[in-house]
Amino acid sequence: MILRQALARRKSPAFARNLTISKSPISWQQDERPQQTIASAVERSGVGLHSGVSATVRLIPARAGEGRYFVKAGDEVKIPASIDHVEESVLCTTLRRGSAKVSTVEHLMSALEGSGIDNVRIEIDGGFEVPILDGSSREWVEAIEEAGICSAKDDSGDEISRFSAVVHEPLYVWKNDSFVAAFPHPKTRVTCGIDFSQVSAIGCQWFSCFPTIQHTYSQEIAPSRTFCIFEEVDGLRNAGLIQGGSVDNAIVCSISSGWINPPLRFPDEPCRHKILDLVGDLSLLAENGNQGLPVAHLVAYKAGHALHARFASMLRDIMVKLKGEV
Ligand SMILES: [Zn+2]
Repeated sequence: MILRQALARRKSPAFARNLTISKSPISWQQDERPQQTIASAVERSGVGLHSGVSATVRLIPARAGEGRYFVKAGDEVKIPASIDHVEESVLCTTLRRGSAKVSTVEHLMSALEGSGIDNVRIEIDGGFEVPILDGSSREWVEAIEEAGICSAKDDSGDEISRFSAVVHEPLYVWKNDSFVAAFPHPKTRVTCGIDFSQVSAIGCQWFSCFPTIQHTYSQEIAPSRTFCIFEEVDGLRNAGLIQGGSVDNAIVCSISSGWINPPLRFPDEPCRHKILDLVGDLSLLAENGNQGLPVAHLVAYKAGHALHARFASMLRDIMVKLKGEV
């Protein structure tokens, strides 16, 4: 039995201990709680940040082991929320399977990972881009709280254990002075840094937290909105991006005159939003209802979606190799 099936099916705590392979940079550990899903369906509608097209997203309970996946309304092609289906795109994270695609998934995925929703069917209707809402993941977290959270059951009506990948040695990717790294740490901790030295109102910021603690995620990370530089807006619009962007779904900062649409929700809101994005992008490491974020101290500096995806792909390659050894 390959590990993918084993992780979805086995329920014995002893299984997790047996999985520890000392020489691998990553091993698996069983979490304290079983896999979860939402208790009822819930939906939100809104405009897509880049396309400007309105869509409705419906979150629907899923069985344990199914993981998180998208389905376009009227189409039964499942697009797993997996790093294996990430398509290179500018300023957002896009998933593709064949001709089916869904874009700007990162804030919704972040909310699901941060809220502990391991299994969910995500139907999208009216467009291919997840609504940007207020530019943060707060409205998704509120939707999840409205739906309720419960343990997920498999076909037999049983709960299934949830596993996390544990990092045992430093792993990193970098480009110029940007990097994403993981260091051994007993809890999942994320630290992000940004440096906008040319924009004095933003400057250099660092923030660190434990985003898999549900209360920490909902209070410290989820409210932070996406941000952009005012002087770059025309260039992005002319490139066909941010067609649905407005001062209602992003905080905008001018190089010369500071924030255009205050107040900020946190003094370091841009940096916190980078953690929100990283949580969403690394959530794509999850499969079969297991945790996406590895157990490690994750440190990212001046990173974006492309570097997040490279880092996730590297971890995925190690995990695939690990499966082959089990
Ligand atoms: Zn974002």
